[in-house]
Formats: sequence, structure tokens, C-alpha cells
Amino acid sequence: MNYAFDLGERPSLPIEGSGHRFPVRRIYCVGRNYADHAREMGGSPDREPPFFFDKPADAVVESGAPVPYPPRTGNLHHEIELVVAIGREGANIALEDANAFIFGYAVGNDLTRRDLQFAARDVGRPWDTAKGFDHSAPITAIHRIEDTGLIEKGEIWLTVNDAMKQRGNIADMIWSVPEIIVELSKLYRLMPGDLIFTGTPAGVGPLVVGDEVQGGIELLGTLNFTVIAA
Ligand code: MN
Repeated sequence: MNYAFDLGERPSLPIEGSGHRFPVRRIYCVGRNYADHAREMGGSPDREPPFFFDKPADAVVESGAPVPYPPRTGNLHHEIELVVAIGREGANIALEDANAFIFGYAVGNDLTRRDLQFAARDVGRPWDTAKGFDHSAPITAIHRIEDTGLIEKGEIWLTVNDAMKQRGNIADMIWSVPEIIVELSKLYRLMPGDLIFTGTPAGVGPLVVGDEVQGGIELLGTLNFTVIAA
């Protein structure tokens, strides 16, 4: 191609135990997928169909890299989440086939400008500026499913400056990972390189400059970053 200018490398993440990197194509996110978090957001934990939003691929931040405090917010929130990495192409995927589309898993943080999210919600506007900003997707290395096996339960937690803020269990998701893949694949053709944030347990809260944030999921290691001044 004869491009007018060079955009640089495609966003990507390391793959644990591999010399290869996982190229990031799209980042999809599920809203309100744990009952306790649905309640703390003022919603109902009923099993209403899952809803989705997304982040740009270049919002990815590797674990250990700093996160600049984003502009136009006074209420940046952490949301620790299981991230599913897709390794096969498919649409209208059947439930019994869904796990075969998983390349691996990671720990992610769905950083959120909560004040912008609530303002948008109150007037029925989109969430894009609340969710899809620069540096809004810190993620660990991808752990391949052949190394971890299926992840259907396990503790998920987050600390800020060593104080426990979020603690839950993957088994408490309202919509399971295969169910999420089924629903998402009705809306979009999933492709290798896609990532899916699968929702956060209760305990979301604000971050300020200087905060040291850690979060983890059993078998998947720890996601670390420091919030720095922009
Ligand atoms: Mn989230």
C-alpha cells in the first residue's frame, strides 16, 4: 500500500510463554455482568440480555506501563475484568461451539470516566467518551487456553495502594463466557484478534494521580499500573 503516512505498529499484547504477540483487532465490552455490580450502578441484576459497548484497539496499555489520568473527568473509575481473546472467525456461533473460539484469557481494567457515563446515561446518549478514551484498557499478557484450560470460576480482585477494593468470583457472572460469545456473534462477525471484556464485580471506585492499582484472576497473574499526571 502507498499510504500518505505511517500509522506505526498495530496494537498488540504479549502472549505468556510465547515469542509471539497477540494482535488486537477490536475490543468489545459487556455491561453489568455481575449482580452485585448491577445493583451498585442502580440497575437490576435480572438476566436481561447482555449489552455491549467497545473501546478502540489502541486504548490497550500493557501491564506495568503507567496510565495518564484522562482529560475531562473528575471521577476515573477502575473495573477489574476477565478478558477473553478470540482466536477463530465466526458469526452466529452455537453455544456448544463457543469455547472453541477462545484463544486465551487475560486480566483487564475497563477504565471508565464515570461522571461522563452517568451524564450520558441520564440523557440517553452513547457511552463512547466514558469508556473508549486513550489508555482506557490496561491488560496483562494473554494466557493461552491450552495452558490454563477453560476458566469458569476463580477469584477476581483489585487493590488500590494495597487496599482491597473489588473481590468476586468469575463463577458469579450473570452471562457466562460462552453465552457472551454467542450473543456477541449475533451482532458482529468475531475475528481472531478480538478481545472481550466480560464485566466487573462490585466495588468500583475512583482513582487519583499516584494510585498504584493491582488486580488479578486465579491462573492469569496480576495487572499493575500507576496513575500518573497527564
Ligand atoms: Mn466494565
